[in-house]
Amino acid sequence: MSRVYNFCAGPAALPEAVLTRAQEELLEWQGQGASVMELSHRSKAFIDVMEQAESRLRRLLGVPDDYAVLFQQGGASQQFAAVPLNLSSDTDSADYLVTGQWSKKALAEGARFVNANCVADGAEDNFMSIPPRDGWSLGGGRYFHYCPNETIGGLEFSDVPAVDSPLVADMSSTLLSRPVDVTQFGVIYAGAQKNIGPAGLALVVVQKELLGQARSSCPAMLNWETAATNGSMYNTPPTFAVYLTGLVFEWLESLGGLEVMGAINARKAARLYGHIDNSDFYSNPVSKSARSWMNVPFTLADSALDKVFLDEAEQAGLTNLKGHRSVGGMRASIYNAVPEAAVEALCTFMSEFEQRYG
Ligand code: PMP
Repeated sequence: MSRVYNFCAGPAALPEAVLTRAQEELLEWQGQGASVMELSHRSKAFIDVMEQAESRLRRLLGVPDDYAVLFQQGGASQQFAAVPLNLSSDTDSADYLVTGQWSKKALAEGARFVNANCVADGAEDNFMSIPPRDGWSLGGGRYFHYCPNETIGGLEFSDVPAVDSPLVADMSSTLLSRPVDVTQFGVIYAGAQKNIGPAGLALVVVQKELLGQARSSCPAMLNWETAATNGSMYNTPPTFAVYLTGLVFEWLESLGGLEVMGAINARKAARLYGHIDNSDFYSNPVSKSARSWMNVPFTLADSALDKVFLDEAEQAGLTNLKGHRSVGGMRASIYNAVPEAAVEALCTFMSEFEQRYG
């Protein structure tokens, strides 16, 4: 077996220890005579899986008791609609900050349900920096939505915006990469397929006092209060995805939690950006104070070499380095399950490539 170093933006690499464990217990899970996928979601055994996953997440993130933790389906994109449907009426307004492709999509979907006020749009700067706070036109609506880490552009906030409305954060590509103070947020949501688990699942962490305001037209499957009162089992949950996610949380705890993970991720990012900055052959266009720890886009001095770079990288076992189709170039996503050795191998490959073609 030869596993590659996988730099995919999502679905992303999963910890090898988690995959091995799932493989070992696939046919017969914990003496049940069946796989975890074949158990009733109403069985005590599966309810334990769900409850343990939730408790582990609460410990990892330090989620206080006055916040609900929900396992939802439909990915992060479904939450783009769930947010306004749960937090506003169709005559209300809400603030949206646009810093890249994902917050732009959230605004477009949100605008179908609420009067969405675009506070500022980083498109003017090609999404290379966070629009300065003093230029934001805040409308003071029911909530303020933003995306702390833009997966495509590799643009990340280094602080939490200070606004008066409840903060709603799409943390799809940054949640669990380091500690976060949950109490600063009204709602945090994230698609699972980066640092959390398999695609299909989305996590929602919501302040309980924000529950109970959903519109009567809000579909039951999108209603956070319905999910909260039914232990995220209003319908059949994606049981295998929840189980695997629980194993990822267990793996994170065994490493020492998010402080330890955050230190590892800081080293990985510093190593790769340092390598890019020390070369005239590679460059990263994002403003230094807003560089993402998780998604590192970079370009070659000669874009005609892009395909050669990608082909040779793949032959060297470094996969999925192609940049998003909307921006081109390369992008290395260095999520939790991408080890430091992978970043080292990438830097070595980049040096050798530069020597040959630079
Ligand atoms: N928001 C962000 C920041 C993302 O990176 C993604 C997926 N890459 C999404 C939303 C959409 O997630 P999903 O595909 O789970 O709907």
